[in-house]
Amino acid sequence: MDTAARKEVFRYLFGKVVDPLGYKFTPDEELVDMLLEAEVKTELDTGAPYCPCQRRTKVRAEDMKIVCPCIPFHRRHFDAMRRCWCGLFVHKDVTDPSVLPQIPEDEI
Ligand code: SF4
Repeated sequence: MDTAARKEVFRYLFGKVVDPLGYKFTPDEELVDMLLEAEVKTELDTGAPYCPCQRRTKVRAEDMKIVCPCIPFHRRHFDAMRRCWCGLFVHKDVTDPSVLPQIPEDEI
């Protein structure tokens, strides 16, 4: 499967996962495209679409918590920011993601 097709699969599958959690893709289409492309490449390299913005530990149990969409594992943190760490997903009522700050978890 080529990169463009895989990105479309991610769009579909990830959308299904995040919708019942109260999230949607950011309206920033350029960011969506860039992050999904990075995830497709990561999946090709590692076997899983790990987060492009969080560091892997090489401890599988920990790293599975940053396979996209990682929202269920970081719900309290992301809900406080109304966005995921990368900004790929935002709360459904967000219209301008540029005003949402990225806040370290230990500051929440
Ligand atoms: S922070 Fe966002 S883009 Fe990164 S893995 Fe989690 S849900 Fe996906």
